[in-house]
Amino acid sequence: MSTTTPPDETESDERDSALVTARRQLERAAAHVDVDPGVVERLKHPTRVQQVSVPLEREDGSVEVFTGYRAQHDDVRGPYKGGLRYHPEVTAEECIGLSMWMTWKCAVLDLPFGGGKGGIAVDPKSLSDDETERLTRRFAEELRNMVGPTKDVPAPDMGTDAQTMAWFMDAYSMQQGETIPGVVTGKPPVIGGSYGREEAPGRSTAIIAREAVDHYDRNLSSTTVAVQGFGSVGANAARLLEDWGATVVAVSDVNGAIYDPDGIDVNAIPSHDEEPEAVTSYATDLADGDSARRLSNAGLLELDVDVLIPAAVGNVITADNADAIAADIVVEGANGPTTFAADAILEERDIPVVPDILANAGGVTVSYFEWLQDINRRQWTLERVNRELEEHMLDAWTDVRAEVEDGGLTWRDAAYVVALSRVAEAKETRGLWP
Ligand code: GLU
Repeated sequence: MSTTTPPDETESDERDSALVTARRQLERAAAHVDVDPGVVERLKHPTRVQQVSVPLEREDGSVEVFTGYRAQHDDVRGPYKGGLRYHPEVTAEECIGLSMWMTWKCAVLDLPFGGGKGGIAVDPKSLSDDETERLTRRFAEELRNMVGPTKDVPAPDMGTDAQTMAWFMDAYSMQQGETIPGVVTGKPPVIGGSYGREEAPGRSTAIIAREAVDHYDRNLSSTTVAVQGFGSVGANAARLLEDWGATVVAVSDVNGAIYDPDGIDVNAIPSHDEEPEAVTSYATDLADGDSARRLSNAGLLELDVDVLIPAAVGNVITADNADAIAADIVVEGANGPTTFAADAILEERDIPVVPDILANAGGVTVSYFEWLQDINRRQWTLERVNRELEEHMLDAWTDVRAEVEDGGLTWRDAAYVVALSRVAEAKETRGLWP
């Protein structure tokens, strides 16, 4: 399969694929690192990309065939690691870009993993639970030769969850003839999942937002926050920041946003996963005269807040709206919410963007803890998971902040420099064979 389609410079940056953005970011960061250009060239390409057909017998007896992918970007530091997403817009190119980001994310956190990402081009809302189970089991079978605890370890991503991972693990284990919990992470704790895994990307986003607020000499108790997306990442980040004293003034789901300058009780609103459309019904149910008001998702991004956390989908801050961003700090909860062109505009405007590969890396960090627990057949307490997550996030924050302070780099470039230095050193040490 061709994986090297050059970017079409005439396209709007809103349509930039994750791959185009990831390659541009890599080229930009490489200029700041003393790295062999041959290594950078190798890192622009995935090791392999598998495309599979996943046939599914629908409830009415008809058969539909979906297309699935697994991109494996790089494994120089350890097994490929990254999520499986079920979304209508999943493509090979998107999976490759997202798998590159996983390589950097794992390296920023100094985890012994490389980067992978995959998924099926399907709308998960169009499937019954039984159909999702059958689709997942067949997908696991199609990927069986490329995954495994020492090869490639999938996890949840958009449109998949702990139950999806349980079916994947069961299908793989049945075919291998033994129970192999370490083939995926993000499983329910009863079958080898880790406590705290589901909350982890939101928790790390909140930790990094808290550190960023402190870095820019502000106080969390006088900080206003707007969060786009109320799924696992957005809801957990918003709840923790509220618990730690910040005022969350706006949150949103796919239907729109709610805004209250006095603060929203985010702990009282179910997340999108717990109750889809809860955010919008919260706004609808408000008594007349309540100051909370409805806002569009685009309007939320332009609020004059201290911290903006895009935690929904990719490509939401683009060249079209970057000039209108009024937040003082952007912390990326989603993967790839800021386009390459928007990044340049925000840099010009002196608005720091703390990148996804640092901020939401708590997910894969607790996946690493889960993988260790599976290998050792020993479960950690939630307290231990959260304590070690905090330590890992603070270490990564310190490493990235040093590059920002010493090199005068943007937060994204700094995170890339940390990651690329580690990956490149491993590649140079192992060498190119033959
Ligand atoms: N899908 C998550 C991410 O984008 C987690 C990946 C993992 O835990 O392997 O970081």
